[in-house]
Amino acid sequence: MGKISPRHPRAESLRIRERLVEGFKAGLVVPEGLAAHGRGEAFDYILGERTTKQAERAIEAAAAMLLLAERPVISVNGNVAALVPVEVVQLAKAANAKIEVNLFHGSAKREAAIARWLKKHGTREVLGTDRKFSTRIKEVHSDRRKVDRRGIAAADAVVVPLEDGDRTEALKKIGKHVIAIDLNPMSRTARAADVTVVDNIVRALPLIIKTMKRLSHSTQTTLRETVRNFDNKTNLAATFKFMLKWLRGLGK
Ligand code: ATP
Repeated sequence: MGKISPRHPRAESLRIRERLVEGFKAGLVVPEGLAAHGRGEAFDYILGERTTKQAERAIEAAAAMLLLAERPVISVNGNVAALVPVEVVQLAKAANAKIEVNLFHGSAKREAAIARWLKKHGTREVLGTDRKFSTRIKEVHSDRRKVDRRGIAAADAVVVPLEDGDRTEALKKIGKHVIAIDLNPMSRTARAADVTVVDNIVRALPLIIKTMKRLSHSTQTTLRETVRNFDNKTNLAATFKFMLKWLRGLGK
């Protein structure tokens, strides 16, 4: 694809799409990932491609939850690696979290390519690629059962960007605190997580990192209160209302 004109009304969206296509060519992303991105784009369009007030509230709760976590893990798939490799590494540093590759359409080759890509962007360790440490979540009935004993299996909090519903529900069942980043407020993932940031991951991750820095001197009591005061269901309902209002405005 040629250079995207900055004057194009969808310039940013096209640039993001281009990053995903590059990730596809590099063997990080599968065709199904391109389709999932399309679904995300549609919801982003309905959000006006901006971070809503509701997303900001969820980001605050997510940042507090990560600061409170003792063994946080960031789960990474091909789309996440292609779109935000630098930010994943920065978030892992800010949260003192481990990074684990976890694929819906798993293959050892792609797992290794994603791990290499993340290491190229500054992390030393990527879990989820060494069979020696692999264990299973029996609540998941697909390939995605596999998790790393040193990572998600032992985690108290897991960040699941662009995740599928089965795994999110299973992570909840086995007692993890789950932070989802998903543009679809109706997805099972969005509804099952403790905190769902309904925003594009390219906007959400830098904001979570920034908010963690801002909250880093808060007391544990204040952080706990921030998490306790956040209600995911109410926030999702408010997001949905915002989308409807925005759509009605477009229809006028
Ligand atoms: P579920 O199984 O949770 O009901 P799903 O079947 O839609 O949801 P997938 O297709 O596995 O789940 O996951 C893709 C999800 O990621 C979609 O909900 C999509 O809206 C979201 N998504 C795609 N691209 C992005 C992005 N750049 N930022 C945030 N979310 C995204």
